[in-house]
Amino acid sequence: MTSTLALSAPHPGAAFEKVTIERRELRPDDVLIDIAYAGICHSDLHQVNEDWGPGIFPMVPGHEITGIVAAVGTEVTKFAVGDRVGVGCYVDSCGHCEPCLRGEEQMCRNIPVATYNGREYADGSPTYGGYSRSIVVKEHFVVTIPDTMDLAAAAPLLCAGITVYAPLMRFGAAGKNVAIIGMGGLGHVAVKIAHAMGATVTVLSQSLSKKNDGLALGADRYYATSDPETFTALAGGFDLILNTVAAVLPLDDYLGLLAINGSFVNVGFPAEPYSFHAGAMVLQQRAIVGSNAGGLPETQRMLDFCAQQGIAAQIELIGVDRIAEAYERLAASKVRYRFVLDIANTLLA
Ligand code: NAP
Ligand code: ZN
Repeated sequence: MTSTLALSAPHPGAAFEKVTIERRELRPDDVLIDIAYAGICHSDLHQVNEDWGPGIFPMVPGHEITGIVAAVGTEVTKFAVGDRVGVGCYVDSCGHCEPCLRGEEQMCRNIPVATYNGREYADGSPTYGGYSRSIVVKEHFVVTIPDTMDLAAAAPLLCAGITVYAPLMRFGAAGKNVAIIGMGGLGHVAVKIAHAMGATVTVLSQSLSKKNDGLALGADRYYATSDPETFTALAGGFDLILNTVAAVLPLDDYLGLLAINGSFVNVGFPAEPYSFHAGAMVLQQRAIVGSNAGGLPETQRMLDFCAQQGIAAQIELIGVDRIAEAYERLAASKVRYRFVLDIANTLLA
């Protein structure tokens, strides 16, 4: 075991403390990564607050990780010391069920091991995430950060990026009329990726306060959902709506914005249930579907696509001493557009 510094929430909703945690000795297929940066995802907030059910505490969140390979196990073939790498939402899966064999490890039938707030298959010990100086991960769950990409701005792509890229690919955003609800961490990356894929992109935000940014990131149109006129003006207009909001929305209003056979894809993950009327779906054959992050092969394809298109997250890089402020501002939608912790330079003994 190797000791490493980490930021840990001792109890649900509690302030983070600097602690020492243990990382396992390298197995033959493991990679040891010196973490440089960790993005702060709204899912971290949900889990620290137990919005989705009981969590495992103490909790060290972080599933948007970039860093440098510091050591490799004897059977590792994909990586060498010094490589620039990333780790996303999962660090293990069974490897033999149908979704795993398809490269959709995030839907492993035998419960994939989450990067944090999960349990290792081997001994049931809790997993600890990216708010720490180093991490040991099976090589299959490590991806390559393209050389041209800034390591800090790449970090959010490991969760936010793949979570929006996967459904935009699955529902064929290219050439379609696509709406993105919420200009937050996921939403702003979705605007960039959907635009790069060749979609006509409309942002549906609570207000027009981020309109100039949205248009600069590639949106063609930008509307405020606080204005009831928006729902009349855009009725029936979208082939695809990607909802990135972490709160419950009045679904009937949004379903009315879909064209016939359009899809409302939900990646936002609020604690409370949604409700909607069947008529909003049935009469115009609209679909409500979900999407869960993405598998490892697709995560690498997303990174390569983003590098080729010059896409990364717009970040606010902060020292670990500002984590409480970051959580408050994230809860209040006051971040433009993703907080990234500068782990290597500020998580110090
Ligand atoms: P975020 O940065 O907080 O962005 C969410 C955005 O939603 C906000 O910036 C805000 O945008 C909008 N919003 C917030 N509260 C709202 C409200 N009450 N009504 C309407 N709009 C509201 O969060 P994120 O990191 O992008 O994550 C968003 C959600 O996706 C979270 O629930 C997270 O857990 C989930 N998630 C899911 C997956 C998955 O695999 N499916 C992966 C990652 C994250 P505007 O100010 O523009 O309205
Ligand atoms: Zn996330």
